[in-house]
Amino acid sequence: MRSPFVAGNWKMNTTATEAEKLVLEMLDKLDRIKGAEKVLCPPFVSLVAINMMLQGSSIKLGAQNMYFETEGAYTGEISPVMLSELCEFVILGHSERRWYFGETDEIVNKKVKAALANRLQPILCVGERLAEKEAGKTEDVINRQVTADFKGIEPVSNLVIAYEPVWAIGTGKAASGEQAAATIQFIRDALAKLWNKSIAQDLRILYGGSVTSANIAEFIAHPEIDGALVGGASLKSEDFVSIVEQTAEIKGRVK
Ligand code: PEP
Repeated sequence: MRSPFVAGNWKMNTTATEAEKLVLEMLDKLDRIKGAEKVLCPPFVSLVAINMMLQGSSIKLGAQNMYFETEGAYTGEISPVMLSELCEFVILGHSERRWYFGETDEIVNKKVKAALANRLQPILCVGERLAEKEAGKTEDVINRQVTADFKGIEPVSNLVIAYEPVWAIGTGKAASGEQAAATIQFIRDALAKLWNKSIAQDLRILYGGSVTSANIAEFIAHPEIDGALVGGASLKSEDFVSIVEQTAEIKGRVK
């Protein structure tokens, strides 16, 4: 049975002071929600403070990126070893990293390997761009990303995948529940071919892209979709709490 999962990607938002305030606003309410795994991914500069704030709670911490080397002369980078003292999760292959910072599948693959080697669970993002969708290439793109990003990696169950169509991220134009569910099923089938059926059945696959408290139910109602990676709406405490509440509640009914 796959447990529901919701992660908030704060991206490059919140100062350290604002981040602590946001956690304080949500902490008790999120902590009380049973039936969904809850993960906050604030900026690097807030990880230490938020790690302390979350001690003793049921809320987990994730980073938004990392480098693949463990230490050394890589000015400005953060290593998996550093993160593993603070976090359980790390978002990798986010489309903003792929497109603004030139991260190739080869780099993403090195990062996935480094995260797993350092007891961090990757939240691996895959998804097609608008032109690729319009050219009917969604499945080709996803297949290429999944194959390349997991190249040389033995089947593992300690990771999460997020299907994030690039055209839906931060645009207010979410995919439909049906579209998302169909592509997520395609990802699961691709994983079954790459690894095996049993691992593919166990891995959690999320939808991400303009998820809000008003549309989360449409995604979560599909048994193929195990939760959400939430960007903009995770910066509003009421919205994020409501997204997690609805996920736990609906997934408790829809098996
Ligand atoms: C994201 O950053 O992963 C994301 C899905 O953003 P948004 O919810 O704002 O579209």
